[in-house]
Amino acid sequence: MDVIKISPRGYCYGVVDAIKLAKTVAKDPNVPRPIYVLGQIVHNQHVVENLDVLGIVTLDGPDRVAILENVTAGTVIFTAHGVSPQVKVRAREKGLNCIDATCPDVTRTHDLVTRLVAQGYKIIYVGRKGHPEPEGVLGEAPDDVFLVENADDVARLTLDAPKIAATNQTTLSQWDTEVVMEAIMARYPHVEVFNEICMATQVRQTAAVEQGQNADLVLVVGDQRSNNSNRLVQVVQEKAGRPSYLIDSVADIKPEWLAGRRRIGVTSGSSTPSELTREVIQYIQSLPDASVVEALEAASSSS
Ligand code: SF4
Repeated sequence: MDVIKISPRGYCYGVVDAIKLAKTVAKDPNVPRPIYVLGQIVHNQHVVENLDVLGIVTLDGPDRVAILENVTAGTVIFTAHGVSPQVKVRAREKGLNCIDATCPDVTRTHDLVTRLVAQGYKIIYVGRKGHPEPEGVLGEAPDDVFLVENADDVARLTLDAPKIAATNQTTLSQWDTEVVMEAIMARYPHVEVFNEICMATQVRQTAAVEQGQNADLVLVVGDQRSNNSNRLVQVVQEKAGRPSYLIDSVADIKPEWLAGRRRIGVTSGSSTPSELTREVIQYIQSLPDASVVEALEAASSSS
């Protein structure tokens, strides 16, 4: 059995910086305690547990304003997914020390939306309902930004505005987003489209599709809550036409998945610690007849 180590994969620069910032904060004795993160710093339970060991408490809840109501003192870290202006205002009202670990690519989308709304645009935002990133972006202008997930949502829109722009969450499937954007353009021919899928997401998806075609099966190492990891599974299934499973770690691999397979592709989401992926690769390599097929030369990663 061969292993195709799909590359690039794993941590992006936004995730690396967010984790590094949280660890720096944890080590600084001058930072007010307790230290909380509003939601998961990045969507991976292993990362959350590692921060917990350092004394950083992750708070979960329906939305960031609601989570914040449980915090009365200390420091709050905003996650890589970004937060709405309401969260920042409320945190300051409560006298909390705020640390912002928002990825610069997410901040760029916030800036785009505020700039366009100031110019009189209504915004159609393609994103996943219930994910913290859309929550933060919609909070920039709740009356002017409209969240859609798919073409059906677009059909239900009742927007009537001379200036309309469309943009999207950073970690969506680039192919899915194209379909939704086409539906938006058909409905609103005067729309101006701004693609905000980040480079890290694009190169990982493209690599997974291109290199995954050489595999009989592709395993994606990532957390169930990680949107970009779930999208990797989806694009391999839909665009590479190969079976694919999301696994949290080597323990999730079902032997029957590997039965009769000759080449197993392995990739991982942007929030997956590399040691988890390494363990998966080593496990497959340890199976009888294992040998390694290096993937194509790593494209220059944006991470
Ligand atoms: Fe930033 Fe993209 Fe990484 Fe998300 S996936 S943290 S937007 S670089």
